[in-house]
Amino acid sequence: MEVIKVTPRGYCYGVVDAMEIARRAAKDPATPRPLYIIGLIVHNRFAVDELSQLGITTLDGPGRATILEQVTEGTVIFTAHGVSPLVKQRARIRGLNVIDATCPDVTKTHDLVNDFVARGYDVLYIGKKGHPEPEGVLGEAPGHIALVETEHDLDALPAFIHTAERLLVTTQTTLSQWDTARLIQTIRERFPHAEVQNEICHATQVRQEAVARMAVGADLTIVVGDPRSNNTNRLVQVAEELAGSRAIRIETVADLTPEMLAGKRRVAITAGASTPSQITREVIRFVESQGARVRVMPAPAEVPPMAPNEAPIATTGDSTYPDLS
Ligand code: SF4
Repeated sequence: MEVIKVTPRGYCYGVVDAMEIARRAAKDPATPRPLYIIGLIVHNRFAVDELSQLGITTLDGPGRATILEQVTEGTVIFTAHGVSPLVKQRARIRGLNVIDATCPDVTKTHDLVNDFVARGYDVLYIGKKGHPEPEGVLGEAPGHIALVETEHDLDALPAFIHTAERLLVTTQTTLSQWDTARLIQTIRERFPHAEVQNEICHATQVRQEAVARMAVGADLTIVVGDPRSNNTNRLVQVAEELAGSRAIRIETVADLTPEMLAGKRRVAITAGASTPSQITREVIRFVESQGARVRVMPAPAEVPPMAPNEAPIATTGDSTYPDLS
């Protein structure tokens, strides 16, 4: 059996930074106690457990503003997903010490929305319902921004989108770039005057492109990550739809059995941007222990071709920064 260790994979720089910010806060005796994280620092329980051991309590719930209601003193850490202005304001009113670990790529989307709304635009934001990142971005411009997850949502848009003279279409950072391109194409057909700014982050794009190229020919692609991690689930989708490989998501090596690998000639392994490296290393070691011949392939040089109906989309993402995963 040949094993393809897809690269890049695993932690992105936004997650690395957020974890480091939280660790530093926990180790600094001057940080007001108790210490809370509002929502999961990243969608991975092992990362949450690590911070818990450092004395940081993770509070989770249906929305950041609601979660914040539980905190009356000490320090709150905002996660890499970002929060709405309302949450920041409530934390200030409560007199809490605030540490903001929002990923700079998410902040860029917040700034983009604010900039366009100030210039008279309304916004169609493509994102996942119930995910904390859209919650934060939507909170920037209530009454001027609508969330779209699938084509079906386009049939139930609020009136202000239909009457908008200026319309911005933008996206969550961790979506599938191919799904998003298709949805944007449909939106362009309905709203030809819309201006499109794709905000899928560089880390998400290169991980998806790596899987789309390197999992081709694999009998099985193993994606290591938490079930709540959007970018992890998108990697499964990319492996199946773009690379044509059967794909499974596992949380840890405990989810893997020799039977799952039996008869496989080639297995590709990757991990979501919120998956700690040691979890993925354990999976690789297990597969190696089954008699695998390991092959590390270089990062992809080009994006896999899109279907003919997928129009090119404008990208504001900075593709020059280093990938720290
Ligand atoms: S996936 Fe992208 S936007 Fe999200 S934390 Fe990582 S780098 Fe930032």
